[in-house]
Amino acid sequence: MKIHWDLNLMEISCQLICPCNQKLYKSQSTLKSHKKTQGHQFWEQTKEQKDINININRLEIENAHLRRLNILLMERISELEKK
Ligand SMILES: [Zn+2]
Repeated sequence: MKIHWDLNLMEISCQLICPCNQKLYKSQSTLKSHKKTQGHQFWEQTKEQKDINININRLEIENAHLRRLNILLMERISELEKK
């Protein structure tokens, strides 16, 4: 019975910890009002911006790779056409 209670408590505390500051909020409503604060909003925007930057970087690498592949294929084609 005690273990069950502890698990429940853990589950609840996990949900009430904000990842932006690792702080534990007493209730769902205090967490909700925290999420409206500038500090949290800024964190969310920064996180989104980071995700976007990671995606841009990944796409740039992919693009460079495809360009190189394209050049290679064009070279192969022109070699074949010469034969
Ligand atoms: Zn937060």
